[in-house]
Amino acid sequence: MTAIDTETTPVRTAPDFGPATHLTCRECGAQYELGAAYACVECFGPLEVAYTFTGVTRASIEAGPESIWRYSGLLPVAAYAKDEPNLAPGRTKLVRADNLAATLGMTAPLWVKDDSGNPTHSFKDRVVAVAQSAARRLGLSTIACASTGNLANAVAAAAARAGQGSVVVIPSNLEAGKTITTATYGGTLLAVKGNYDDVNRLCGELIGNPLTESWGFVNVNLRPYYAEGSKTMGYEIAEQLGWRTPEQVVIPVASGSLLTKVDKAWRELTSLGLIEAADYRVFGAQATGCSPVSQAYAEGQEVVRPVKPDTIAKSLAIGNPADGPYALDVVRRTGGAIADVTDTEIVAAIRLLAEQEGIFAETAGGVTLATFQKLLATGGADRNAETVLLNTGDGLKTLDAVADVVGPTATINPSVDEVSQALQ
Ligand SMILES: *Cc1c(COP(=O)(O)O)cnc(C)c1O
Ligand SMILES: [Zn+2]
Repeated sequence: MTAIDTETTPVRTAPDFGPATHLTCRECGAQYELGAAYACVECFGPLEVAYTFTGVTRASIEAGPESIWRYSGLLPVAAYAKDEPNLAPGRTKLVRADNLAATLGMTAPLWVKDDSGNPTHSFKDRVVAVAQSAARRLGLSTIACASTGNLANAVAAAAARAGQGSVVVIPSNLEAGKTITTATYGGTLLAVKGNYDDVNRLCGELIGNPLTESWGFVNVNLRPYYAEGSKTMGYEIAEQLGWRTPEQVVIPVASGSLLTKVDKAWRELTSLGLIEAADYRVFGAQATGCSPVSQAYAEGQEVVRPVKPDTIAKSLAIGNPADGPYALDVVRRTGGAIADVTDTEIVAAIRLLAEQEGIFAETAGGVTLATFQKLLATGGADRNAETVLLNTGDGLKTLDAVADVVGPTATINPSVDEVSQALQ
């Protein structure tokens, strides 16, 4: 990793990197060449992709493929090419949720951006596709990750599709719906006796070890590219609303990356003139059993104190969230808030969304809806403002969350009499 002296070195577009020009430190602004780097050598701040965008119009996007690659003019790597197989995620449904809106007493439209429709049933397919393309350009043949579950699915499947090696590292206590599926896609799956923060620390230690020379850890040393994939969630919502932003959006927070990137996407679209400038409020949602960002918000802090996670929302169980402070910035700048909800409230919200709209969300989706309900009740969010809720994963992966509280109306013998009794 080499620091670029911006006084003397003109910033160039690397040939294979689409509109991305360099990496820049979010804290001190130091610039670096595009590479498998994620932390500033000057100040240890996180690195972010910087761009020069050219020729991106609504028409050029609309003429693109039915996947995240229609936004490749706004992503760090050039468009998905035929010789570069991947799962082409994205273009998931934005579902108008009128039943739920009525139940919540809303007078404005309510939408659910349902990312369970992605190839491995969570929003992680978006970030992995972008990181995988970056790995290819950087000559890293194996893709790896530290995962709370959904990322494990996405990495193993993407590697399978591309005929590539994968190494997935997870806490050993994850849901069967995530470990069994990941193992079925193949590749190396390492279940670590510890929590996600232990897994993440281990992966950090592995980087630089000769063992992992040809590996790209999508959410560690490829994190700047990975994180940009989350912008496609924001682009899609704006495009699906007819090229505009909603007034409110509620986003589940694990590391906080997705939340910051939806905001970044909307700021980019605005500055490129692809949407009209309009105010929007970004809300963050956490589980009380792992709510370091929500706690910092409530206390008016700028730093996020790590916690030890204990919640059924395992996909969000990151006790030391890398992008927590940036998520706080976005929420405060846009007039939003971050709140958290109990496991009981999460389960109730999973059921409410399923009963009202026919959408079966994973625990993270329950966190999002329950947090919105709480924010409506406390006046933190507005019933009269058009709102988008992000459902980032599929309830079939987290069946245990509801297994104890739902079941058949009756278990009967195959007889009309017994049906009749059961109906009474
Ligand atoms: C990873 C994940 C998120 C949020 O991730 P960030 O680390 O905050 O970007 C949200 N929902 C689900 C289901 C996830 O798997
Ligand atoms: Zn720095």
